Amino acid sequence: MKKFEGSCHCGSVKFTFSIPDIDHAMRCDCSLCSRKGMVMSATVIPPEEIKIRSEQDALSTYQFGTESARHYFCNRCGIHTFVETRLNPGHYRVNLGCIDELDALRLPEIIYDGRNL
Ligand SMILES: [Zn+2]
Repeated sequence: MKKFEGSCHCGSVKFTFSIPDIDHAMRCDCSLCSRKGMVMSATVIPPEEIKIRSEQDALSTYQFGTESARHYFCNRCGIHTFVETRLNPGHYRVNLGCIDELDALRLPEIIYDGRNL
């Protein structure tokens, strides 16, 4: 397992997580992710492998449709940091752009068919 650290742009929201490795990324084509253009972790991170720290009230959520997924964002800088997945509540995909050491936009990508989920 490798440990990664991520944060929103202003630093009010920080998170660390462990996954085997990050060798590719995922984009989702749903109505929300198309607008965000976010590059996400292809791996879903279980609750015991992620730690989230945020300054008071900095973390907000957005929900739509069936409202089963929670899309988290920093309400100070507006960056979407991670999403609690619709299929596995408590499990997360993270915004790989939030990880400084990672060249997220240059990873090979798969497209997730969120539009038809
Ligand atoms: Zn922020």
